[in-house]
Amino acid sequence: MLNKKSVKDLQVRGKRVLVRCDFNVPMIEGEITSDVRIAAAIPTIKKLVEGGARVILCSHMGKPKGPDAKFSLAPVAVRLAELLGQEVYFAADDEVVGGNAFTAVNNMKDGEVILLQNTRFHPEETKNDREYAKDLATLAEVFVNDAFGTAHRAHSSTVGVAEFVKESAVGFLMEREIEFLGNAVNSPVRPFVAILGGAKVSDKIAVINNLLNKVDTLIIGGGMAYTFLAAKGYEVGQSLLEADKIEYAKEMMEKAADKGVSLLLPVDTVIADKFSNDAAREVVDSDKIPADWQGLDIGTKTREIFAEAIKGAKTVIWNGPMGVFEFENFAGGTIAVAKALGEVDGTTIIGGGDSAAAVIQLGFAEQMTHISTGGGASLEFLEGKELPGVAAIQDK
Ligand code: AMP
Repeated sequence: MLNKKSVKDLQVRGKRVLVRCDFNVPMIEGEITSDVRIAAAIPTIKKLVEGGARVILCSHMGKPKGPDAKFSLAPVAVRLAELLGQEVYFAADDEVVGGNAFTAVNNMKDGEVILLQNTRFHPEETKNDREYAKDLATLAEVFVNDAFGTAHRAHSSTVGVAEFVKESAVGFLMEREIEFLGNAVNSPVRPFVAILGGAKVSDKIAVINNLLNKVDTLIIGGGMAYTFLAAKGYEVGQSLLEADKIEYAKEMMEKAADKGVSLLLPVDTVIADKFSNDAAREVVDSDKIPADWQGLDIGTKTREIFAEAIKGAKTVIWNGPMGVFEFENFAGGTIAVAKALGEVDGTTIIGGGDSAAAVIQLGFAEQMTHISTGGGASLEFLEGKELPGVAAIQDK
């Protein structure tokens, strides 16, 4: 159980409460293309508004090097007001904690909401600069961190600021994310199956190692599987391969055997003659990939084997697509796994990032128990690391 103060434990009437949200939403030409993260912040904001707090919201968006209109949070304020059903004042300063914000905050009444400009308009933010953190803290008495998506980063607005306020707590989204991921990893109902995919072994080294101590079955698909197949001595042609991780893959296969974990790798693979949706394609056994072809998806026999293992599970965690799902012709393996998760009689958790995007895009979102809003943060959680943004909050 999370031993941190929660937003529901706070007395906030008349107090200024700074809430770090994760409003790092995808945008194309000033239009928000998914408001999932804004919607996810609503329960915490509503709770504070109803409790009579003066709610000051902040977030980063993108990677601006300083003030940059392209990364303004103005569109977020508009969408947020619609979702919240109340006015959201946007303190549109280039200086997040500058004159405009101070005046706006000083004039706030109980139950009102303002949104500060992008925290990364100050380059100090990502250095967890203490002076900037102190400036942010002068805006409020209480700090609430609800930004799960950035909880793995120690920045001024996620970690530094907590030191300079009277009281700090985690928000509902943060609590929910940690409860689902934490229960799954630390006290799973068994059988517990983890599915890892995506491009690189090197991104998931610590995750594989930690999960092998926890799961009954580890399924590996996607681009990272080819390094494991190479470790078995197979020719993988032009498929993604991290030659310097072959030794590690061998160690992990030995570890799985020692621990009695069933490690499932693709027995067949969909190969392509080039990296393109309209490449020529074929399904071959995993040890028969021709030298000039590349594997872009798991094969049909593999889909059945993976689906069988998934359907019998009581707890499933999935991170990383099974193939290049962005190409329709190579999305079949990822769809098959999503379908299998949909049929699980138990808890299914999608670990953010590309797998969350795939599940939503393919129409399986409703069937999952929990879809994490943070790819990087959920991976670090699965590595067994404490998230700095959570560690900085006061204990219960
Ligand atoms: P990650 O961010 O590590 O989860 O990787 C996601 C990316 O991996 C997606 O963009 C997929 O297109 C890519 N991917 C998955 N399988 C393969 C593969 N067999 N070959 C190349 N890229 C892949």
